[in-house]
Amino acid sequence: SLQCENIDSLSPRNQGSAIHGVSETIVGVLGGGQLGRMLCQAASQMAVKVITLDPVEYCPACSLSYQHYVGRFDDGDAVREFAQRCEVLTIEIEHVDAITLGKLEEQGVDCQPKPSTIRIIQDKYNQKVHFSHHEIPLPDFIKIDDLESVEDASNLFGFPMMLKSRRQAYDGRGNAVAYHKDEISSAVAALGGYERGLYAERWTSFTKELSVIVARGRDGSILCYPVVETIHKDSICQIVEAPADIPENIKKLSVSIAKRAVGSLEGAGVFAVELFLTHDGQVLLNEVAPRPHNSGHHTIESCYTSQYEQHLRAVIGLTLGDTSMKTPAAIMYNILGEDEGEKGFYLAHQLMKRALSVPGASIHWYGKPEMRKLRKMGHITIVGPSRKNVKKCFNLMLNREDVECS
Ligand code: ATP
Ligand code: MG
Ligand code: MG
Repeated sequence: SLQCENIDSLSPRNQGSAIHGVSETIVGVLGGGQLGRMLCQAASQMAVKVITLDPVEYCPACSLSYQHYVGRFDDGDAVREFAQRCEVLTIEIEHVDAITLGKLEEQGVDCQPKPSTIRIIQDKYNQKVHFSHHEIPLPDFIKIDDLESVEDASNLFGFPMMLKSRRQAYDGRGNAVAYHKDEISSAVAALGGYERGLYAERWTSFTKELSVIVARGRDGSILCYPVVETIHKDSICQIVEAPADIPENIKKLSVSIAKRAVGSLEGAGVFAVELFLTHDGQVLLNEVAPRPHNSGHHTIESCYTSQYEQHLRAVIGLTLGDTSMKTPAAIMYNILGEDEGEKGFYLAHQLMKRALSVPGASIHWYGKPEMRKLRKMGHITIVGPSRKNVKKCFNLMLNREDVECS
């Protein structure tokens, strides 16, 4: 039984069993969302034991993890207790208690990637400062403390201007755009005011958004997945096309920036590097996620080694797997909540049923207990012999003609 009242252990399975797969290492994952769930799916194939910590009892990972612990991953006591149950600690979300992780590391707990990396990344302003010190190309940015500094930023950057929350950001929920001077105060208010900790970014009118998943093993070996294009709707990733339809030199540039960015951070695991491709062929870094990422879901069906298996291999210290695509093309579509409650479930299920008759389509449903508008509820990946083919199948699934076939 557990000492700490901040954490509860649920559904232990195979306890005491000596049977283990490719590694005896028990991997502890902070967070039990869809990324945690897909880590568990990869782990089950290798018979690797993954345990999860999430405040939600019926979170997406709960039924697939070896043991699920209910507790907050931003609560030091819960994280400390959880760390005793595993041999290596990793994350599926960066909004964890990184200070406690740092202390645990000093006491000999194995955290991958390193707590120092999570600390840099979880504050998006600090992340930008870090990458600018490493001469990684970025959109211009400036810290915002008060009305004066936000007005200075707007004089410098013009409009539209992107305001971002430094912490707790995901799915664009920490972003607000001011299109005009009059909108500054409402944008600041929408993010929770200056006290929330904000910064401003120069608007980047990109032609495409790109992403590179980079894997680093414990021995320092680095492998990159093919560059993909991510298409966002209202700041939320909706479609991923793999490989990205961009010239070879842009691919090379993207991979080299991604490798340099990850090279400036410590620890093993997979990292996602989000990039902007500008009109004049520049590639700028948007942000890095120190974990598996939405832009790598497609790797489950389209690559020899999925990003989830790769992350486990990396943090355990196994050889990294082949990152190349085994299908010429893939397209991933996020199933975002279209409506609250039953109506939303109905629409999502209709889409999944249509996907069943689409060649090359695989359905992933995360089993989230509640449906909310724009919430990531699942995804569908379509693989096929060419970009044109997967787009055709994609349009068939969505009953629409408007995604152009190149
Ligand atoms: P994620 O879910 O990827 O963690 P997030 O909430 O951290 O997202 P960002 O990645 O900073 O948010 O921004 C979300 C999206 O908003 C970007 O993918 C891009 O479409 C748009 N965006 C962000 N920064 C800028 C910018 N400076 N100029 C123009 N568009 C931007
Ligand atoms: Mg982010
Ligand atoms: Mg992002």
